[in-house]
Amino acid sequence: MTQNRTIALVGRPNVGKSRLFNRLAKRRIAIVHDQAGVTRDVNSTVVDQDYTLLDTGGIGLVVDMDHQKLIGAAEEQVWFAVEAADFICFVVDGREGKTSLDEIIAERLRASGKPVQLIVNKVDGPDEEHRAIEFAELGLGDGVPVSAEHGRGEADVRQVIADYLGPKPIVDESGESEHRIPTAVVGRPNVGKSSLINKFLKNDRLIVSEVPGTTRDAISLDLDYMRDGGEVWPFKLIDTAGIRHRGKVSHSVEYFSAVRSRRAIEHAEIVLLVLDAEIGVTRADKALAGEVLEQGKCLVIVINKWDIAVKRFREHPVDGYESLHDFQKDFEESVRKEFFFLPASPIVFVSALTEMNLTILLSAARAVRRTATKQLPTPKINQLFERLLAARSAKMLKGKRFKVYYTTQTGNFPYIFRVFCNRATKLEEPYRRYLEKAFIKEFELNGCPIRFDLRGKTVRYPNQDKKR
Ligand code: GDP
Repeated sequence: MTQNRTIALVGRPNVGKSRLFNRLAKRRIAIVHDQAGVTRDVNSTVVDQDYTLLDTGGIGLVVDMDHQKLIGAAEEQVWFAVEAADFICFVVDGREGKTSLDEIIAERLRASGKPVQLIVNKVDGPDEEHRAIEFAELGLGDGVPVSAEHGRGEADVRQVIADYLGPKPIVDESGESEHRIPTAVVGRPNVGKSSLINKFLKNDRLIVSEVPGTTRDAISLDLDYMRDGGEVWPFKLIDTAGIRHRGKVSHSVEYFSAVRSRRAIEHAEIVLLVLDAEIGVTRADKALAGEVLEQGKCLVIVINKWDIAVKRFREHPVDGYESLHDFQKDFEESVRKEFFFLPASPIVFVSALTEMNLTILLSAARAVRRTATKQLPTPKINQLFERLLAARSAKMLKGKRFKVYYTTQTGNFPYIFRVFCNRATKLEEPYRRYLEKAFIKEFELNGCPIRFDLRGKTVRYPNQDKKR
């Protein structure tokens, strides 16, 4: 069984890849893509809610291709297919017969070691099946004869793909709510971390059980938060060593050293970064937040000691604010400004002292985790990327425009988007941030860090150097 479940169609122009793509996708034939300049680079679709099908036909295509350019495009197509898919269907034209370009593609495919199925298209009837024979010389085994135009052989192609993929893995969605969320509480000394944790531990709604630490340094506690109606929210609080049995919390400093919090972050999925409402955002807070994101973990900002602000506001209303709510909104805005580099993390106002909003805090942590575990639909990712590039094109690289063929999600914690492009490059920080912001907004990934993993091949045309 395979993880990736992505199939790519490769082959030279006009062999009928997009026809086959549309057949497998059960789409009406919209555009015939196998024409220079007509197509988008990579067409992708999800077939039978089971696997992703890619038509690589547009990669490297330009108008008026000469033979060298065709070779370059074919090479780039194969590179992409090998990187992006785990099974490749190599489509050839049975009418035209084997060409030198077919041989080049076949050679590259063989060298890649990826599983390949040869498909001989334009075999429209039984009397034409002999056309498949000569392609055996490509060294990729027997080809499946098909007619993408008429649907002949379609079932055979589906069978080949099904045989390769094996049964679809069952995703246990019911298990998600059972997941015990590894959560770390970090922050500078005296912001109220121990008070907060102790409040959790003493809360009647929480059932606490100590779990022997998985590492020498990180001791964790299982917390089950009981909701009205019997619902249970399971958490695993990381690195609470010593907190529980201490009557006093005055020595919390030693439990929250930088090294400890680094380790706690490492073992967590969700990190609650606690700030002191009286002090606001300090450089140390920003450094900690940066560390959390660097480690690819989700971040919730906790403004503790909000009781003090509430009390003060009630006693001496602050000029210019009609209500406490307005004041809080403004406070939140200023925190957000300081933390401009965060992935739109939730900001929760709490008081460990009065136990204000502790349920909301736990609920925010749960929401962020749900957000962090999504599998985003590839076509939507690609549509967004296309829109973003159109709205603000990335810098030219050595005279060539940065071009993206295809993007797909390859990871969670952090979200990783693999971006196949014409050049391997590093995104400049403002551009990366522009993309990140748009992704967070579009897919509502608040609190989740994002990485863009750029993959590009520098294609060398044989005559390229001479021309310079
Ligand atoms: P830690 O170093 O982050 O673990 O901070 P502590 O939990 O030891 O708290 C530092 C100080 O702030 C203690 O004197 C607490 O009593 C106080 N404190 C913690 N949380 C709150 C809160 O929500 N409101 C108020 N008013 N004081 C708090």
